[in-house]
Amino acid sequence: MNTIVLGGGVIGVATAFYLRAQGCEVTVIECEPDVALATSFGNAGVIAPGYVTPWAAPGMPTKILKYLFKPASPLIFRPTFDPAQWRWIARWLRECDLERFRVNKQRMQRIAYYSRTCLHEFRSRYPFDYGRSQGYLQLFRSEYDVELAQPALAVLRDGGIVFQEMSPAQCVDIEPGLRWARETPVSGLYLPDDEAGDCARFTRELRAICENHGVLFRFDTRVTGLDVQGGTARGVRIEGERGGETLAADAVVVALGVDSAALLAPLGVKVPLYPVKGYSATLPVIDDEKAPRAALMDESLKTAITRFGRNLRVAGTAELGNRQSTLREQALQTLLKVLDDWFPHAAKPNSAHFWVGRRPMTPDGAPLLGASGVEGLWLNVGHGSTGWAMSMGSGRVVSELVVGRTPEIDLEGLTVERYRRR
Ligand SMILES: Cc1cc2nc3c(=O)[nH]c(=O)nc-3n(C[C@H](O)[C@H](O)[C@H](O)COP(=O)(O)OP(=O)(O)OC[C@H]3O[C@@H](n4cnc5c(N)ncnc54)[C@H](O)[C@@H]3O)c2cc1C
Repeated sequence: MNTIVLGGGVIGVATAFYLRAQGCEVTVIECEPDVALATSFGNAGVIAPGYVTPWAAPGMPTKILKYLFKPASPLIFRPTFDPAQWRWIARWLRECDLERFRVNKQRMQRIAYYSRTCLHEFRSRYPFDYGRSQGYLQLFRSEYDVELAQPALAVLRDGGIVFQEMSPAQCVDIEPGLRWARETPVSGLYLPDDEAGDCARFTRELRAICENHGVLFRFDTRVTGLDVQGGTARGVRIEGERGGETLAADAVVVALGVDSAALLAPLGVKVPLYPVKGYSATLPVIDDEKAPRAALMDESLKTAITRFGRNLRVAGTAELGNRQSTLREQALQTLLKVLDDWFPHAAKPNSAHFWVGRRPMTPDGAPLLGASGVEGLWLNVGHGSTGWAMSMGSGRVVSELVVGRTPEIDLEGLTVERYRRR
């Protein structure tokens, strides 16, 4: 079967790997000169299936209002005249109900746990270094934030997921670098089975493995449309001289991250994706003893600090309403403040390399996997703030659907159907 994957982010490259493993001919089309140069480039790198959580959660609307006017805010909202923004917000608010939160979290965990299994299986066959670390520690600055986390803890308990509630001293036992912190957490939560790693580095290595197996990558190539005839996808149109060209395929998988919605809309395939911007700072470690060992999350300011070998990365902020990839000073200062609060001597702030990415968010937090409603056209989109954690599982599931096999996990609530029913 001749297949085309649109997008060379972690989702597209994982899909290409598994399609090839199913025996397909695979071409990946990417407008940038390499893989993982968009949202998959500078993310926090956390793979925490136990803690993948929809942002639509009970108490979140109040928390957002509380933070809107604070200088160090993890949330930035810019109201616009874009109707898509208001539609997305209305849907998001509906998902903040406790029962919806539980359902959505369980759906996200289903694909994230499966994905971790796929990643471990893959890693045992293809061992390579991508700055991996083990364990994930959440830090709470206030009792209010501990209270907000209770519904998520209930889901962890119900799911039998291993976690430990930590006193401030126990947090220091896990991360000795916190001994030099300027803040004291009121408590912590430790997930020993969660992990982290550099998503971009992993994706580049995965690209090399794909190429060794015969996957073709066409870089610097922009997709302009889908070729659909008689209700069936026959290929894709790409930019080029004299109006571009059409590449034929038996199946096309859309994995264009935030740009997927615009490509699908002319076909009547509506995907409720909205870009939620986030920022990161990457800094070389200057003092090992005073730096983090693995991944942490400042739960109150929703900012992660992750160790990747000789570097550390601070990532966070949710900015809704700005589609441009411009850096925002206020967000960058929040990242540096979080680092200075917890690990003030780990790195030099003036060595920070800043980055901005756009999370492809659905209102309920779960991705859209599988059939699009157009024959031969498949979706692997909407992974929001946890695309790296869901990448290998999503790639495998979608590749199996493309070749007509039944995936190992139930896809209830993980397809575009859930938005068609409403
Ligand atoms: C600050 C921040 C922190 C994050 N932290 C984490 C984390 O800790 N753990 C986690 O699991 N996830 C995290 N994420 C989310 C994760 O980064 C995303 O979910 C994931 O990268 C999405 O991957 P993707 O392949 O769908 O999108 P992308 O990586 O954006 O890939 C889409 C690709 O399509 C290409 N493209 C777009 N349009 C076209 C076109 N017309 N023609 C050709 N090519 C095109 C783009 O160039 C891009 O390479 C974070 C995100 C941010 C912003």
